[in-house]
Amino acid sequence: MQIRTRFAPSPTGYLHIGSARTALYSWLFAKKNNGIFILRFEDTDFERSTESSVKGIINGLNWLKLSWDEGPYFQSKKLKYYIEIIHSMLSTGCAYRCYCSEVRLQKVRKYQIEQGKKPKYDGKCRTLSNNIHVNNSSYVVRFKNPEKGQVIFQDQIRGKIVVNNSELDDLIILRSNGIPTYNFCVVIDDRDMDITHVIRGEDHINNTPRQINILKALGAKIPLYAHVSMIIDIDGKKLSKRNNVIDVMKYCKLGYLPEAILNYILRLGWSHGDQEIFSIKEMKELFTLDNVGKSSSCFNIKKLLWFNHYYINSLPIDYIIQCLKSFYTEARININNGPNLNMVVPLVRNKCKTLNDVIKLTRFFYEECSYLNNKIIQKYLNNSSIFMLKEIKKQIETLSIWQVKNISLMIHALSDHYKVSIKEVAMPLRIAITGTNVSPSIDMTIYVLGRYCVLKRINNALEYIYNN
Ligand code: GLU
Ligand code: ZN
Repeated sequence: MQIRTRFAPSPTGYLHIGSARTALYSWLFAKKNNGIFILRFEDTDFERSTESSVKGIINGLNWLKLSWDEGPYFQSKKLKYYIEIIHSMLSTGCAYRCYCSEVRLQKVRKYQIEQGKKPKYDGKCRTLSNNIHVNNSSYVVRFKNPEKGQVIFQDQIRGKIVVNNSELDDLIILRSNGIPTYNFCVVIDDRDMDITHVIRGEDHINNTPRQINILKALGAKIPLYAHVSMIIDIDGKKLSKRNNVIDVMKYCKLGYLPEAILNYILRLGWSHGDQEIFSIKEMKELFTLDNVGKSSSCFNIKKLLWFNHYYINSLPIDYIIQCLKSFYTEARININNGPNLNMVVPLVRNKCKTLNDVIKLTRFFYEECSYLNNKIIQKYLNNSSIFMLKEIKKQIETLSIWQVKNISLMIHALSDHYKVSIKEVAMPLRIAITGTNVSPSIDMTIYVLGRYCVLKRINNALEYIYNN
């Protein structure tokens, strides 16, 4: 049997970090089993679905490299087809028209709540003897849910789930505006697309028995279901926009690598012993639904940053540079204006948790330093540094072979010669050539900046001192 999974977002917003995790699990499960992963947009809620959301979700999946084998399919393009099926269900009697007004339904609801009962449709129209459309009156179509018995399914994550049919409503499958509902379209598509494993958020667990009943009524095969737990905030509440970034593409803009996001969301709910780091290849080999946890997982930005730092430092430098290019452009840094990124990025990446950190720490390689009149600048670029800066300049001008080792020896020699600490030589120099007191090691920085640039910047720094 070929494994077929799907990711079925409703395009009503961006790609949520929790949905991305569901998509990842679905994708991995298909990949692990040489199966097919399908992308399907559940866009029959016309008021909330938008084109830009479709684009956003596709961008998000592309950025994470969660590629689909089939689709994207759009439910909105199949309305006629769904409605035909509903009509055939009406004629076979497994669905019926309900003419109840909103007012009546509310009354029923209110009464049931007063009686301490779980509110549900009372089935008034279920038994209308002649269930033929009465002219001009508005109606919905409901599924005739079995009244007796139970729905039993083996959730692949949560184990056996049993629901009494008496607790289930006669679900609306066609709205009064003629649009089929989510629960109906899902069922038809899962059936038609031969989905073998429905992997989705726990928020759909109550829909599952209803969907199984519809599938049964249609004589369709029942897929296996796996409901993935929610991701929660540190305060135990549903992950909210207020305290967290939940739009996957925002993480892209903030300088996270897709590898870090994938590894983080993989571990947020799935485990393989104590292992934390998983390459994409390993994830595909090792993923199983058995090891997905039942309890909700708490979102932890520090851990995500830890993964990001790890991947910035362990993925091939060429790849990191490729990822960085748009960030330099965004920051209006012209990387042709300075040393090759191959030389620069390795100097700073161990200090970086995001790609934006890399940009911040390497800007000075490509731009003249602006000596902002702050405490650090005042402390190191003043009259007392003139002498040492001039000495360094002389040394750099005459250094015969441009090598890191020679640069380092030169700094040590100056400190020995004038009987001052290395810091007293290096700090004014560092500030002069980088404009900050946080930079990679001074000898490497000088080496990579190059003789011409270093001399020019020392001159600029001297100029600055004379003018202030
Ligand atoms: N369209 C549903 C949602 O975005 C998912 C439905 C499903 O996976 O069955 O929540
Ligand atoms: Zn009714």
